[in-house]
Order: sequence, then C-alpha cells, then structure tokens
Amino acid sequence: MICDHYPMRIGGREADAASGARLEVLNPATGRLLCTVPAGDADDIAAAVAAAAAAGEVWGRKSPLDRAAVLNRAAEILTRRMPEFVAVEVAQTGRPVREMLAQLARTPEWYSYFAAVARTHETHVHPFGGAYLNYSRRAPLGVVGLVTPWNHPLLILTKKIAPALAAGNTVVVKPSEVAPVTPLMLADVLDKAGLPAGACNVVTGYGAVAGAALGAHPGISKIDLTGGTETGRRVAALAGERLIPFSGELGGKASVVVFDDMPDDRAVSAALFAAFIAAGQTCVQGARLLVQRSVHDRVLDRLVARARRIRIGDPTDPATQMGPLVSQRQLDTVERYVAIGRAEGARLAHGGNRLQLEGMAGGFFHEPTIFAGVHNDMRIAQEEIFGPVVCVIPFEDEDDAVRLANGTAFGLAASVWSADIARAQRVAQRIDSGIVWINDHHRIDPSSPWGGFGDSGLGKENGIVCYESYTRLQSVVVNLSGDHFDWFADDAADKRYS
Ligand code: NDP
Repeated sequence: MICDHYPMRIGGREADAASGARLEVLNPATGRLLCTVPAGDADDIAAAVAAAAAAGEVWGRKSPLDRAAVLNRAAEILTRRMPEFVAVEVAQTGRPVREMLAQLARTPEWYSYFAAVARTHETHVHPFGGAYLNYSRRAPLGVVGLVTPWNHPLLILTKKIAPALAAGNTVVVKPSEVAPVTPLMLADVLDKAGLPAGACNVVTGYGAVAGAALGAHPGISKIDLTGGTETGRRVAALAGERLIPFSGELGGKASVVVFDDMPDDRAVSAALFAAFIAAGQTCVQGARLLVQRSVHDRVLDRLVARARRIRIGDPTDPATQMGPLVSQRQLDTVERYVAIGRAEGARLAHGGNRLQLEGMAGGFFHEPTIFAGVHNDMRIAQEEIFGPVVCVIPFEDEDDAVRLANGTAFGLAASVWSADIARAQRVAQRIDSGIVWINDHHRIDPSSPWGGFGDSGLGKENGIVCYESYTRLQSVVVNLSGDHFDWFADDAADKRYS
C-alpha cells in the first residue's frame, strides 16, 4: 500500500525536485526506510508560489458557494480514503493505529465546518453617519505558505488548509521532512474534489532549505507555521520584514492541575492520557502534573502503577497503546532530558530507559517516564521535551496552583481537575494559557479557537476567528447623496471632511 517514492505536487502535477535530490522517510517502529520524497529547494518553492498565484486568479474569484462545494467533496473523499490515510500516518509517525483511527476520523469535519463558515460568514454595515453606506468585505490574502510539523501531519495541515482555501486563498505547503506523505496524499484528495490546478501545492524538503525559502518568498501574503518556538521566531522575523501576517502554533509545556476533591481514578486517567498520548509528542502534552499535596503521594503511586501497564509495541497492532518516538533525534532528546532530570535531583519514579523490542530492534522506543520531587525551576519542568516524560509537582492551594501553572514561558494549554466547578473556573481564568480544559484534556473541535500565549505562539487556529485571519478586511464607503462636493469652491455649502 505504501509506495517507494512520493512526488511533490506543483501546479496540479506530480513533480520531482528540480535538482533531482531526494530525502528518506523512515519507519520509526523499525528505523528502516519507508519511502523517499523529493528534497525541494528554493527553485521548487518559486515554481510552487508562481503556480499558486496563477491559480488564485481562478479560486480567489469563486463564490463562497462554489468553494464550499469543493471542500464538502474533499470531506467525502477523505472519509472514503480514511483507511489508506491511517495506514500511512501510522507508518510515518509510529503512532499507534488506535490513536490515528480516532484522530483522523475527525479530519473531514474541518472541511465541512469551514465550507459552512464560507457559506454563512457575514460582514458588517458600519454606522458611518450622514448619507453614507459603509460596509466591510473580506477578501482573500493571496498565496499563503503553510509549514507543518511531524506529530499530527494530516490534522495540523487540515487545520490550516481548510480555512485558507475556504477564504479563497491558494497555498504552498512545506510539510515536515520526517512525515511528509499524508500531506502529499491530501493534495490528491483536493485535486479530485475539484480544486483548480495549482491552488494547493506541496513542496517536500528540509526546513532550513525549502521551509526557509517559503518564508522568505516575496510572493506569499501570509505564513502560518506549526513547529518549535525557535523556528517560529525565525519565520516570524521574515514575515515582520515584509509586513505580512504570521501565525505560529509553537511549543508548549502544559500543566494538568489536580485538586484533592477529584476522585483518584479520574485524576490518574487524566494524567496518563495527557502525558502519554502520542508518546508525549503533542504540543499540549500534560508534561507538568500539579497535584494538591494532600493527595499527591496517592496519585503518584497510582500513576506509576498505571504507567507500568501501558502496552508499548508495534503501532500497527490495534492492542498497542504507545508506539515509538518519531525519530532517533527525538529519542536522543528524551534520553538527554532524563539525564538532566536525574542530575538536577528529581526522583525517577518510573521509566527512564529506551526500549529494544523484539522484531523492531531499530525502533525508537522509550518507556513512559515519571519524575517526582520536581521543582518548578528545574529544566525538566521548564523546557519542552516532546516525549513521554511527566514531572509531578505538589501544590498547596489555589494560589499556589495558579503560580505554578503560570510559572513557564509557554502558554498553550492547561487543564484543571476539580469536582467544584466554580473553583475550576476561577482557576482556569487565572491561568495564562490560550486553551484551558476543565475536567478534560486535549479536546478539540473545528469551531473551538486553538492557539497559545507567550512563547507558545501568535494567532488562532479553528473557528471563525481563524477564517477571518486568512482574509483582509476592506472598508467600502459609498456616498449616497449624489451631492456635488467641492472643497475649494467659495460657497456656503457644508464642508464636512471627517
Ligand atoms: P520544527 O520547528 O523543527 O519544524 C516545524 C516545521 O518547520 C517543519 O516543517 C520544519 O521542516 C520547518 N522548519 C524548520 N526550520 C525552518 C526554517 N528555518 N524556516 C522555515 N521552516 C522551517 O518542529 P517539529 O517538526 O520538530 O515539531 C515539533 C514542534 O511543533 C514542537 O515544539 C511542538 O510543540 C510544536 N507543535 C505545536 C503545536 C501547536 O498547536 N501549538 C501542535 C504540534 C506541534 P523540517 O521538518 O524539514 O525540519
């Protein structure tokens, strides 16, 4: 089912890199070659931007009704081809099939949601006064650059491409070099759904080459990136020089705040899900478990007991609960932080080792890892590890919980767990995070704004606010009076100019 080589998509055609270079995509469960894709560079990006600009003349002029029809067809085709997408996503990310079935099954909703937003979005008539009609209209931005990471390759691209296309833009996508295949497959789905040739281009390649060329290209009107905070700063600086909008969904270090009135079993299930889904490789990973001191030891013991029972193994096996990390690099990072945590004096309550699994000797597996006795100023509590490592930190009361939850440079997400909803909301509203869940974690919907504060980024995905961020607002002022206005005439007429 998985091909040996996947070409790029430029101007509606399959293409190899102009240079002929290719890069290898590995299967994280085995460390062996999965397939190759082109290693595109600035020449390929230039071709893709030119194709997208030409396609914008067609797509940008379509009515919202026509654009919605294409997006709804894309939702249908994606739904039909879901088993193929799930298989490839598992193979390129190493994420267990049970996770990818659950996640990918929801992706068509983004296309139908933004189709509906395009159909129903309304602008305003403003109270300008006098004999004037003043209305605003939203026009597409033009060619938008979308740069995406490897942890949720299809979902994250979907969160960007559905609103971008719904609003009438055309796109050039630079997916992660580590997991570029489902973004290439998505271009085919959009093609079959009736998107004009060149409206969606996908250039595979290295971030420092193809990604940097896309961020710097003068033909793009916005750049939207999901990735690490340092990558975000670099790309935002390029956007700043050209005064084009930048949107960045960047790093995170989410806190899971558990009060003592939460039943232990719910608290422990919450912590386990938040910390170890996707082997901890999510931007909203509950990497910091803040537990009220009166129940801290009990919750920690039960967490360790449950973590021991997580089934780690072949991601294609429906019984597997945790797969490998995505790459050797990611595995090395996790090992480095485990060593840092030990050196800082944190107590390893569980895990801490890489795993060699039978039949998957080259796979990038690591145990779920729990550090106790962690202080908020330790590096393991502050820096994004992006792996299956959770730091457990006790707190005394509401004020202490808020102080700790706000004690990082990141501000993407947090969750608050309490039977007292009034208290949970009080605490949620004091936490400096773009997303706060109460008695839940990691829930998402196409309508629900998603994006961070502080080092976690700028801008929002999802919802009407995201659709609007892919448009520019034009104010049209119409003089309805029909009067002849002559400022320089020497007469007694009203000379209003404001
Ligand atoms: P990276 O920042 O390494 O890469 C993200 C994307 O940017 C990749 O396509 C990468 O290409 C590309 N890139 C790298 N350097 C440049 C550059 N100089 N100019 C333009 N593009 C570049 O992140 P990861 O792929 O490792 O993803 C993990 C990160 O993403 C984590 O920090 C995580 O928190 C964040 N993330 C945030 C989410 C959110 O919603 N806030 C959701 C998911 C992840 P290449 O792969 O070839 O290097």
